[in-house]
Amino acid sequence: MFGGGLSPGSSEKPGRLVLAGRVALYHRNTCPGGFVSSTHSVSPASLRVLICDDLSPKALEIFGEYGIFPEICLGLDEDALVAKVHDVDAIIVRSATRITRRVIESAPKLTVVGRAGVGVDNVDCAAATEAGVVVMNTPTGNTTTTAELAIALMVSMARHIPRADREVRSGVWNKKSLTGVQLTGKTLGVIGLGRIGRVVAARGVGLGMNVLAFDPYLAAAECSPVEGVELSALDHLLAVSDFVSLHVPLIDSTRGLISRERIASMKPGARLINAARGGLVDEAAVAEALDSGQLAGAAFDVLSEEPPPADHPLLGRDDVVMTPHIGASSTEAQVQVALDIAHQIARFLLEGRADNAINAPAVSASDLAFLGPYINLAERMGSYLAQRLTGPIRKLEVTYLGELEARDTRVVSLALLAGALAHGRDGGVNFVNAPALAEERGLRLLEGRESDAGAFQNQIKVRASTKGGVESHLVAGTVFGSRPRFVRIDELHLDFPPEGHILVTEHDDVPGVVGHLGTLLGECGVNIRRIELGKTSTAAGESKAGAVGFLAIDADPGPEILERVRALKFIRKLGLLRLGEAAPVSGNRS
Ligand code: NAD
Repeated sequence: MFGGGLSPGSSEKPGRLVLAGRVALYHRNTCPGGFVSSTHSVSPASLRVLICDDLSPKALEIFGEYGIFPEICLGLDEDALVAKVHDVDAIIVRSATRITRRVIESAPKLTVVGRAGVGVDNVDCAAATEAGVVVMNTPTGNTTTTAELAIALMVSMARHIPRADREVRSGVWNKKSLTGVQLTGKTLGVIGLGRIGRVVAARGVGLGMNVLAFDPYLAAAECSPVEGVELSALDHLLAVSDFVSLHVPLIDSTRGLISRERIASMKPGARLINAARGGLVDEAAVAEALDSGQLAGAAFDVLSEEPPPADHPLLGRDDVVMTPHIGASSTEAQVQVALDIAHQIARFLLEGRADNAINAPAVSASDLAFLGPYINLAERMGSYLAQRLTGPIRKLEVTYLGELEARDTRVVSLALLAGALAHGRDGGVNFVNAPALAEERGLRLLEGRESDAGAFQNQIKVRASTKGGVESHLVAGTVFGSRPRFVRIDELHLDFPPEGHILVTEHDDVPGVVGHLGTLLGECGVNIRRIELGKTSTAAGESKAGAVGFLAIDADPGPEILERVRALKFIRKLGLLRLGEAAPVSGNRS
């Protein structure tokens, strides 16, 4: 019934997180209840944001609107940064400044590193994840600009514009050798129909081209997301396209995507454009294909080695157009990424919302609206179980029932983990680092799914066990409206709001328990809001039947009153749990 759990790779810092398309609601000091209402009141002016690279001044205007006043420190090397970041909440970079492990470890208050742009090669993401620092980028600010460069490269290639320009400047007026090809009516194959690929595809349609697109993640889609664009298998696209433009990320599965074999399978005389990432194309094979006529041209904004070595096989060729990785280099894009990162960082610091977090799982906005209350519930379940078990939890078995069965519940599981791990720590657990912290503590999370949620539309059931299963407890919960409820604790079916202070009693199942408890707590000025009682199974050697009680009380009664309750003759065990308290206003990672 249970499958694999969350893969490790994150680490610690509490808070709240949400991810959509890449949105994440995150608060650094996750503590019970911290996930849903983002009410923690940070004074914006007290936040320290460091801008380390040249960023459009428009970003400062945006920060000003949020009441945040960043400090600009350009050109800091690692030592200077280390000296600077001890009380910094956020760092913003472009591509120049390197945020190393040492920098991150020197910044105990740091919760977020923002990259104005896409690539985060200059940020030690593993170190950030371990430290529970969210790393976010601005993936959409460059989209149009980069797509326009791909189109520009295609036109340049089709009409030999770079060579024509060079020749005219050098006094050569040779129209004949500059006969190009028309785009209208030609087939453009777009590989990777993400943000940039879609704009390129739409522009291709606008130019009167037949546009095919391949994207394995859209393979099952019935229709293309771009009007006038036909989804195609990769082999077919390569076989029929006059122009092939790459718009995929460089990941293991795309490294060397345009291999010697694939180039050989392209339509003879085709032209190739790479404005995505170096490493996608076998550049030596392209040179050979140009020599043989298999390819008529190629255009590269990105290369496997940048800048290319002097003996790069594509340098100095008239049938190749090259630009020095300028896909994102337009005034508009630079302003846009600055605006995006300013909004993102401000919203993160003030509301706990992390757009475009790259080291946390993504949840679509619609899923998030549905899952929000369950995220809150799961965190409380984790916190409850961690407090209820007397030893460290080694296994959490979570089952998602009802409609939750078909949902992407990764973020809910993260909340469960974060809730369980936060107990006994002074902050420092969040959605980013919870899986890594769980691994470090030997806590396994197993997930299961069932369609039948019984009397409820949806239910989350969690069993937590200590090492070797010596001790284990179960809790099941659901959401009424948007409020979390525990509906089962071990064998006791109940309806209990998991919030505030809860006294858990294990006691003899004898008459008068509630009366005595109520009287004592009443005498001590402790108000009981709700009581749930149930029998427990009688253990071997026990003469009397046992029972368990959950008493929601208004406040922490303090150690003396707890001692008096514990001294009641029918009490076998007593615990005080705290659930769903507001997250602290601030807190350091350490
Ligand atoms: P994106 O994530 O929105 O889109 C990438 C698409 O590629 C996704 O739809 C994904 O499903 C698809 N994909 C993944 N593996 C694939 C495969 N094997 N075959 C086909 N499709 C596959 O990314 P984006 O913002 O559109 O960026 C695309 C590329 O452009 C990235 O490599 C990015 O780094 C690069 N980029 C370059 C510049 C530049 O300066 N030249 C600027 C910005 C982005």
